[in-house]
Formats: sequence, structure tokens, C-alpha cells
Amino acid sequence: MKEIFKDIYHIGNSGCSVYLVDTKSNDGLVLIDCGMSLSLIKKISKRALNPMNIKHCILTHFHIDHIGACHDLKQFNKNVKFYAHELDAVAIEEKGHDKETAAKWYGVNYKPIKLSKRLKGELEILRFGTYEFKCIHTPGHTPGSLAILLELEKKILFGQDIHGPIIPGVSDFEDYQDSLKKLLDLKVDILCEGHFGLFQGEEVQKYIKQYIE
Ligand SMILES: [Zn+2]
Repeated sequence: MKEIFKDIYHIGNSGCSVYLVDTKSNDGLVLIDCGMSLSLIKKISKRALNPMNIKHCILTHFHIDHIGACHDLKQFNKNVKFYAHELDAVAIEEKGHDKETAAKWYGVNYKPIKLSKRLKGELEILRFGTYEFKCIHTPGHTPGSLAILLELEKKILFGQDIHGPIIPGVSDFEDYQDSLKKLLDLKVDILCEGHFGLFQGEEVQKYIKQYIE
């Protein structure tokens, strides 16, 4: 577990990278994606952070490697509220969408969870403590993919599956390309990716550009 920026952590990887923001407020801890293992999330106690204080979890999209641990987390801590874009919501909230979630491919029996809010449109802002989590719709990899931007002293982007891939029947290549350009235009200082770790400064633009055709 590593502190990326003040009160912002990369907890580790379980399927995907899982990130955490300590809002130091009544909104407690905010997770960006869940990964596939509750035990990874519980490791935050090593930093004197209490997993029972996780109040919110923003899901970047419906793939199992990002949402697999949601049900276990909810069982463990009833206070957690989940958020995702409405275009990815059904596969997260209902059974029978193993093609979308890729649960079958991973050999996982996905247990659905209820979202507290379905995010809509191009941009929705979730305000937790003094933080504004700008949830930017970046369709392509999945229809309801989100990238989450925090504008602090530095611009920090939780981009997750910027690398794709493009999955036949689920992804849309043109939307994906448009979304990459949108992310490039944000000119962020720190990119927290879902499977390839952290990028800073000029490395961010370089990383995103390599996927633009
Ligand atoms: Zn994905």
C-alpha cells in the first residue's frame, strides 16, 4: 500500500488496482473500484485506516476484476454505498450478465449489488467531504465507463482501463478513441491506471497517446 498524494492511496492489486481517498470527514473513506478481494481492502488497517469507515465506492465500469469484491465488502460493512454510470448499472445490479462482466471468463460467480446512485450523462460530481469527485463518462471499453478526476494542488485522474481492451459485442472502438482524446485534454499530473500502475508528468500524455490511432 502506497500513498500517491496526501490522503490518496494505492491499496494494491486484486484483479485491478484499488485506490482509496481519505476524506477526513463524515464521508470517511472513498474507494475507486473494489477489485476482487476483500482481504486486499482490509489491508488498509496497516495504515491505521479502518475498513469499516469506507462509506463510498465509485465503480469505473462493470468488469468483474473491478467489481468482484463489492458483495463481500457490503456484507462486511453495510455502510458502503456504490456508484456507477447508468449505462453499466444493469450488469452490476442484476444476475445474468456474465458476458458483459466477464465473470464466466474469470470463473467467478458474480453476486450483484445495489447501486445507491446511477450516474448520468457526460459528467456528474460526487461531493464527499471537501473533495469533488468528477465522474467523467468515457464510453468505449464499456458503455458506461467512467474516469474520475480530482482537482487538488495537482490534477489526479483515476483512469482504470485506459488500455482497453476492445471486446467484441461490449466495447465500441470509436467511442473509446473519443474518450481517450477527452482524457488527454484534461492534462492531468497523475494518472492512476487500473492495471499498469501510476504515471506522472509527461509520462501521462505519452501513456494515453499510445492507444490513440
Ligand atoms: Zn475492464
